[in-house]
Amino acid sequence: MIDLEKITGLVHLYLQEVVQAGDVAVDATAGNGNDTLFLAHRVGEKGKVYAFDIQEQALKITEQKLKEAGMVKRAVFILDSHEKVLEYVKVPIKAAVFNLGYLPGGNKSIITKPSTTVTALAECYKLLLPGGIITVTVYVGHAGGEEERLRIEEFSQKIPDREGYVIKHEFLNRPQTYPKLYIIGKRRNCG
Ligand code: SAM
Repeated sequence: MIDLEKITGLVHLYLQEVVQAGDVAVDATAGNGNDTLFLAHRVGEKGKVYAFDIQEQALKITEQKLKEAGMVKRAVFILDSHEKVLEYVKVPIKAAVFNLGYLPGGNKSIITKPSTTVTALAECYKLLLPGGIITVTVYVGHAGGEEERLRIEEFSQKIPDREGYVIKHEFLNRPQTYPKLYIIGKRRNCG
């Protein structure tokens, strides 16, 4: 069951609505593999999930998680930075998931960076099909997190209304440092 009290719950709620069997999706920050696994469930046997991470450790955990679920063939594991997404993904995508920051339980200095994050978002937006979404979970409690969030807002505000939409979620009764979620969608009839 989806837990609406958590950002990950909201992310999965959106993905569940949008990603269907046979679709292609990108997990831009594979980490411990939870989002890759969720996407693999959604895309089914005929779909594909491209999972990026710059840490071998993260991709190994992710691959193992998919193996245990019998879904390893549904994913491609890419040890490279997500702003190079166009070098690896040559087909349109239905969704991309960004869960920024550092690997939970890992090295906290290996972290997403504002400029590469925004480039990766822009590249994923190019690949996004009409009706598709990009989910972006942003953590502002660490150094650089707030700058990353502002750069994402700046990018989002430049998306023309006729082409796409951006929704921001935040918990108003939790500390300001609690993660925020952005949903960047491409309109179904944007041409
Ligand atoms: N979504 C993951 C999950 O379900 O467990 C959690 C992701 S974790 C918060 C962030 C991940 O982003 C880390 O594993 C980190 O190595 C990765 N990362 C940092 N910079 C990156 C980059 N430029 N390209 C791809 N991954 C990156």
